[in-house]
Amino acid sequence: MGEFELIERYFKRPARQAAVGIGDDCAVWTPRPGHQLAFSADMLVEGRHFLSTVSPRSLGHKALAVNLSDLAASGATPRAFLLSLSLPRADEDWLSDFSQGLLALADAHCCELIGGDTTRGPLNIAITVMGEIPHGQAILRSTAQTGDDIYVSGHLGDARLALEVFRGHLSVPQAVFDLARARLETPIPRMSLGTSLRGLATAMADVSDGLLGDLGHILKASGVGAQLNLPALSQLMLTRQAWDCPRECWLRCVLTGGDDYELVFTAPPALQHAVEAATLGSGTPITRIGRITSDSGLILMDDNGNVVRPAFSSFDHFA
Ligand code: ADP
Ligand code: MG
Repeated sequence: MGEFELIERYFKRPARQAAVGIGDDCAVWTPRPGHQLAFSADMLVEGRHFLSTVSPRSLGHKALAVNLSDLAASGATPRAFLLSLSLPRADEDWLSDFSQGLLALADAHCCELIGGDTTRGPLNIAITVMGEIPHGQAILRSTAQTGDDIYVSGHLGDARLALEVFRGHLSVPQAVFDLARARLETPIPRMSLGTSLRGLATAMADVSDGLLGDLGHILKASGVGAQLNLPALSQLMLTRQAWDCPRECWLRCVLTGGDDYELVFTAPPALQHAVEAATLGSGTPITRIGRITSDSGLILMDDNGNVVRPAFSSFDHFA
């Protein structure tokens, strides 16, 4: 099967919102009046970002999910994406499952595949997403204010738990592993929450490299610090309800786990009810985990008001 037949069979569908879709030298897009375009790119490399044991369907889902998560973190509505694929061979079963996982998530968010590139080589999936935001309403990392509450959506740490089990560092009951594995392999990008926080959140980021690292980006960009509440963090891991995870384990997973694809955001205490209403409307649970401080740095407080200093930093590709 040649490159063009492959694209035609697995990825090309009639253009919907695009002025020009797959098949020409460039895709062409007409933005809606009064909107700005938001772009983000994320690449998945085998062995680095996913294990060879993952199903192609989950991989297709995750490749787009991690990109959509960046749009959510800016408050953008997804519109279109480009798919650049490097494949060792044209395996029809693999391509069929991969494209189904990818396009099912794309359809769920009306995000149209408008082009890309296909080449032979080591398995590597690079996606560029484009979204729209009403003019001037993008939610940045650099605008958190002293005194803001800090919230996080959904659950943290479970994806890391699954990874530790895959690596043979840990063993957990099967039901716990199944739950954690689903969080690792098929993350749910928080699109609806992201857009509902426009005009409410002062700053936002998605949690892809661990809470400490990604909240750290907000703190650095905004020139502020944070005080986090340990009892609130202890509620964040989904699998903790089904398994007695040791404290050292859940604390590390929640703070530095990575691959969570949740949203961490800040908002003034006066907007707490509006924030809660927005999250109810989006069907996404949130937890208030702390407060922005004028002193730089990040402090963790335990149940007794004592400062805790965890002896680990967030996962970093270049560490
Ligand atoms: P060019 O040689 O002009 O770069 P290509 O021959 O690479 O174009 O691709 C032909 C068309 O197919 C283009 O519209 C391109 O965007 C699209 N395309 C290529 N690979 C993919 C892919 N993996 N998914 C979606 N569209 C693709
Ligand atoms: Mg090309």
